[in-house]
Amino acid sequence: MELVDRSEIPLLRGLHPSTQGVQLDAPTRLLQTANFMIIETKQISKKFGELIALDGVTFEVEKGEVVVLIGPSGSGKSTLLRCLNGLEKIDSGEIIIDGLKLDRDKGNIHKVREEIGMVFQEFNLFPHLTVSGNLCLAQEIVRKRNKSDSEKISLELLHKVGLFNKKDSFPNQLSGGQQQRVAIARALAMNPKIMLFDEPTSALDPEMIGEVLEVMKILAKEGMTMLVVTHEIGFAREVANRIIFMDQGKIIEEGKTENILNFPQNPRTIAFLSKVLK
Ligand code: ADP
Ligand code: MG
Repeated sequence: MELVDRSEIPLLRGLHPSTQGVQLDAPTRLLQTANFMIIETKQISKKFGELIALDGVTFEVEKGEVVVLIGPSGSGKSTLLRCLNGLEKIDSGEIIIDGLKLDRDKGNIHKVREEIGMVFQEFNLFPHLTVSGNLCLAQEIVRKRNKSDSEKISLELLHKVGLFNKKDSFPNQLSGGQQQRVAIARALAMNPKIMLFDEPTSALDPEMIGEVLEVMKILAKEGMTMLVVTHEIGFAREVANRIIFMDQGKIIEEGKTENILNFPQNPRTIAFLSKVLK
């Protein structure tokens, strides 16, 4: 895909968006042409000391796509997600989120983070706030919404994840599955364009995994762009457009869900899937 850095073209700078058909809300937003990719990474690498966590990772995610990321422990999945929302700084390569190049020096990092919701294995709710309070906090601080708007949005989202009746409960009064659904609602309250999930069900008791996956399926059906690290292959089979398999910091194989699950080509993919499909 051809990309043009708007800031480098004086004639384009300052033109009204309608004349260009693109958003101009940040000086460094890139101008997109055909096939809009909402996530693009080019040859990204990340080291922790001598350890190479990411080794030249290049991939794209189209708007509305659901991509499942699989791979053995230590293969770099979490590091990749953390780099995408700027929690880790890459050593080399390029990350472009929704046309914005993730670049600490240009201050895009805050803008990019606002566009990405992240859900972790641990729910990370604030224990001293009610469920509703957990949903309102960032809306008021980051999105600058007033109390009544943020409460209204919180209640709508709690309804969506099936927890309207828990709005006044505290996190420790909820099950793990309920807490994770609150965490998802809290991320959604920021109106993200992309949701990243890092093993969202792996800390849950088996009987609670389904209720969290159901919420994620609803999001997928609504057209949310999602990048999900999970070993729930049933979920991947049902929802994912694509699967990416990583090992040792590299993408080893990627393709349509049914192709990767039914006809994996690389011996490492085959070995990994034979374990998780057991
Ligand atoms: P995965 O999520 O696939 O299990 P990670 O991305 O967590 O893998 O880790 C990739 C590699 O980077 C592992 O070897 C891990 O030990 C290492 N690593 C991750 N985060 C750090 C860190 N903050 N400091 C040092 N090493 C790290
Ligand atoms: Mg991980």
